[in-house]
Amino acid sequence: MAPIGDDVVVSNRKLERMFSMKGGKGEASYANNSQAQARHALSMLHLLKETLDGVRLSSPDFPFAVADLGCSSGSNTIYMVDVIIKHMSKRYEAEGFETPEFSAFFSDLPSNDFNTLFQLLPSYGGDSMEECLASDSHRSYFAAGVPGSFYKRLFPAKSIDLFYSAFSLHWLSQVPDVVLDKKSTAYNVGRIFIHGANEITANAYKKQFQADLAGFLRSRSKEIRSGGSMFLVCLGRTGTDPADQGGAGLLFGTHFQDAWDDLVQEGLIASEKRDSFNIPVYAPSLEDFKEVVEADGSFVVNKLEVVSGGSPLVVNQPDDAAEIGRALANSCRSVSGVLVDAHIGDQLSDELFSRVASRATSQAKELLEQLQFSHIVASLSLP
Ligand code: SAH
Repeated sequence: MAPIGDDVVVSNRKLERMFSMKGGKGEASYANNSQAQARHALSMLHLLKETLDGVRLSSPDFPFAVADLGCSSGSNTIYMVDVIIKHMSKRYEAEGFETPEFSAFFSDLPSNDFNTLFQLLPSYGGDSMEECLASDSHRSYFAAGVPGSFYKRLFPAKSIDLFYSAFSLHWLSQVPDVVLDKKSTAYNVGRIFIHGANEITANAYKKQFQADLAGFLRSRSKEIRSGGSMFLVCLGRTGTDPADQGGAGLLFGTHFQDAWDDLVQEGLIASEKRDSFNIPVYAPSLEDFKEVVEADGSFVVNKLEVVSGGSPLVVNQPDDAAEIGRALANSCRSVSGVLVDAHIGDQLSDELFSRVASRATSQAKELLEQLQFSHIVASLSLP
């Protein structure tokens, strides 16, 4: 029998056409699997507030504009935008300035589940800005969704005061072409991620990350207002070797990798099907990131550091191995499920993630101890 995954043909070269976190509110949705990101974001609030304290207060004649890039479809973005706007309005008050109106742009790729996000948004509250800001159950800003890739232009020139982006910039715009080219030495044979891959493959990812980040900075440098700032957080790594992807490597390079190998060994997919699937994530080192910011030259660095981020697994019963196994599979599926479904179809995707869960269950204790993320935190502004 021909392996069933063979008839699903989707080009994943340009991810911006199809990529997103898993939408809706189901068990493996991003909305239901982003508590870890929420926790990591909260642990960096003091750094965010430092950035906010450096933003120049604008004239009350124009709205103060905040954009969250890679907002996804859960409540994290709504929470963070609220924190940002409350903090800024307190600054206006403290400095005796008239508070402007606020606008918030929720931006992500067009396939993001904006509907779920918009339904989670509280309604705009009160007739006056004071009433809105005083109310916890209403929002105090005008909201809009902006579809598009953050590696390109998204906003008019000089229109945004604060860019916020969390846990998104490690997603590449595409798997590098050479990594998908069977004839190339960078072809990632046997693997679905660069963790443990050969140097040439890993370097192709690094190059892609740096080219993407350069595009991001070029676009933002046009869109940011003078006096504005950016606060960026993405997965990172502490080591220098790009083939050692740290926490991201453990997430995508161990049980997830083994589950793909299971499908091949069980004859459910051909080995080329596995080899042509690659997770388009790159966790940069501080150096990888810094080189791009310096080469671009549009931004000054207020802060650039690697912080240890904690575990991506949120479980109620740390002794319950099956819960840990499910948490790993759901966490993996919420971020990569859309790509996997497109590559092998829903049915095989179910098979794959159930193998991820059972493999992770058998190593639950080690997973809880060892799976730790590192994040790059960058606070940048115009000179
Ligand atoms: N900021 C949210 C969500 C992070 S999930 C939080 O803190 O919880 C990462 C998000 O980045 C996804 O929604 C994904 O669609 C988005 N993303 C990935 N590549 C992108 C790109 N090139 N342009 C815009 N958004 C992108």
